[in-house]
Amino acid sequence: MSTDWDVAVVGAGIAGLTAARVAADRGLRVVAYDRLTPGGQLVNLTALHDHPGGTGPELVSALTAAAEAAGVRIGYAEVTRVHPGSAVRLETGDGEVTAGVVVVAAGLGPGRLGLPAEEALVGRGISTCAGCDGPLFRGRAVAVVGEDEWTAEEALELAGWASAVTVLVPGPPRWSPERAERLAAAGTVEVLTGAAVTALRGEGVLSGVVVRTADGERDLPVAGLFPFVDRRGPEGLVDGLAADEHGRLVGAGNVLVAGDARAGAEQSLAAAEADGRAAGEAAVAALAATAGSLRIVDPTYGLPPEDDAGPVEAAGSTATWTDVALFTNSKPNATELLRGLGQRLQAHWELPELGFAAKESASVAADKDTIDWLSQRFKMVLVAVGD
Ligand SMILES: Cc1cc2nc3c(=O)[nH]c(=O)nc-3n(C[C@H](O)[C@H](O)[C@H](O)COP(=O)(O)OP(=O)(O)OC[C@H]3O[C@@H](n4cnc5c(N)ncnc54)[C@H](O)[C@@H]3O)c2cc1C
Repeated sequence: MSTDWDVAVVGAGIAGLTAARVAADRGLRVVAYDRLTPGGQLVNLTALHDHPGGTGPELVSALTAAAEAAGVRIGYAEVTRVHPGSAVRLETGDGEVTAGVVVVAAGLGPGRLGLPAEEALVGRGISTCAGCDGPLFRGRAVAVVGEDEWTAEEALELAGWASAVTVLVPGPPRWSPERAERLAAAGTVEVLTGAAVTALRGEGVLSGVVVRTADGERDLPVAGLFPFVDRRGPEGLVDGLAADEHGRLVGAGNVLVAGDARAGAEQSLAAAEADGRAAGEAAVAALAATAGSLRIVDPTYGLPPEDDAGPVEAAGSTATWTDVALFTNSKPNATELLRGLGQRLQAHWELPELGFAAKESASVAADKDTIDWLSQRFKMVLVAVGD
């Protein structure tokens, strides 16, 4: 089935760019859409931890350059809806396209507390990027909400500017002992476990939060609040695709999911990169399995219907109409020639199967209409006529 793209990737973070590059390296036509600029979460990371990539922007440049060099087209558009099918349909801000395989690598949404007036305070005290907004809080108190490794790193980065950093951990901390030691040694960082933010203070600009712990509720005056909890996956983006309780997706069929957006993902750069590589390879395998059946076709069995809805059994034969047609009039010398050629092409393109259809005493229907139809329907037509 012909599609606009072999592979369409939704989200050009580290997972999406890696998946796109791997698929394009194997000769596939690949587009990677991003509603912002490529890079995803990496764009915000001034320092990378547990990854040898330098700074975030340096790694973004390297990943984007490698993808573009492999032939990936970056589509600067949001994908608003994905409709699975043998040709997957994507609605984008730039129009509708089809693809043989889709890789959803849309990451997670920003951290949120789910409190009234929260959205109105985003950019007015509430931020999810320490590297970008930390300097705005020089000499002032801030709070960070979260429990994972990256919450700890963001708190440590903020400690470089803020007068005091309170880390509010809803459950038990999940960061490593080494990070716990660095937090303890920072001097200006206090960690409160079992702490929930129950209200936001401030008219137009954040001035504090109300924190509930086992000891009760208290006001915490802060100028900045960095929530890294309840980051949701792209639930609902793909028709009919299952999601876990965090809105992260479970891939099915030719819709693959990679990186943070995948149910069960570890949420680290190394894991997202490995996931992207696996998704790129899975896309190559999926397309090789569907696109490449190579059959020897005898046109005297009749042409498939006009609407041409995918592979069609030619009437009365075992032939399937596919991208490559090898034609013979069934004479032994022509048939042998095409069989040998077919086997070479099969090996060269790693096609999964080589079919053959023949009919004794057939004559070649090589009239102009047939040839026109063939040239539109098939990517390649090879003809051998024997006598
Ligand atoms: C604050 C913080 C610090 C971190 N620090 C580290 C660290 O030091 N080391 C480490 O290993 N990990 C770190 N991580 C984790 C790491 O950044 C992520 O695991 C990784 O970046 C995920 O990559 P991704 O490609 O899956 O998603 P993302 O990087 O989130 O990329 C997703 C992309 O999809 C795009 N997108 C989303 N929806 C659509 C749509 N509908 N249409 C088009 N585009 C869309 C987004 O614009 C985005 O560019 C950190 C995470 C956070 C939150």
